[in-house]
Amino acid sequence: MAATTKPFDNRDGSIWLDGKLVPWREANVHVLTHALHYASCVFEGERIYSGRIFKLREHSQRLIDSARILGFEIPWTLEQIEAASNETVKAAGILDGYVRPVAWRGPEQMGVAAQLTKVHMAIAVWDDWKDYFSPEARLKGIRMSISKWARPAPNTAPTAAKAAGLYMICTMSKHAAEAEGFDDALMLDYRGQIAEATGANIFFGIDGELHTPTPDCFLDGITRRAVIGLANARQIKVIERPMMPSEMGRAQEVFVTGTAAEIAPVTQIAEHKYPVGPIAKQLMADFDKLVRA
Ligand code: PMP
Repeated sequence: MAATTKPFDNRDGSIWLDGKLVPWREANVHVLTHALHYASCVFEGERIYSGRIFKLREHSQRLIDSARILGFEIPWTLEQIEAASNETVKAAGILDGYVRPVAWRGPEQMGVAAQLTKVHMAIAVWDDWKDYFSPEARLKGIRMSISKWARPAPNTAPTAAKAAGLYMICTMSKHAAEAEGFDDALMLDYRGQIAEATGANIFFGIDGELHTPTPDCFLDGITRRAVIGLANARQIKVIERPMMPSEMGRAQEVFVTGTAAEIAPVTQIAEHKYPVGPIAKQLMADFDKLVRA
């Protein structure tokens, strides 16, 4: 997806930083911040629909859990994080947009050891991610290559956390895909099984059922779980299981799910082509209702 034209460090408005709203351009960190050197950083991505943050509780809890997995404690409670998120959205006056909470270790200590660092947290809100926010772009479907990078094993990296360090291979995969004219990359895991896209989970429609990889070494997305709920409500069977790339030819339709992507049909993975399928269309309509319910 193309970047927005406005740089993210030079905007009007406010960012919530360590307990208060500060002018956008003053929400800065020092170059010797531990997180910048050693990836001691976790974050969230949330959507605002009609002025309300969708699944705010789940996202805020995942932020806290991700930090704990990396061994640090966010100095704010779940309720305080929720209130801060709502305060930031309200101050921005945004009805439909994106929320980015982030928590990281500061510059008090340099080196692999980081016990002396302070934990910081910020929340920013914006509404100009055009490619993600336009229904037309979503309906067109996305084309994916297959990445050479594998999602790591759970004892190689903290795969259950939404941790910044895990995105290094996602950015490299996405860039490689874009260089070949694709929109995104499908990532396999350390066993060669299908895992997910670079920022979204994946579902395959096979003979009226949905098949999706078991999230045992990648994020069990909050959108993924919501979509499984919507499919169940429509009596569409969802099967979570290990999936191999050799099965991609069996699918009649494919889509990805994520906070930014919502439900986005996939029209191509490597040499396999797919239509925008009836299950995706149905669930997209159901999802649009759910997020504004
Ligand atoms: N996998 C990755 C790697 C992601 O970055 C995301 C987006 N957070 C997802 C899956 C989907 O997660 P969610 O539905 O919670 O946004």
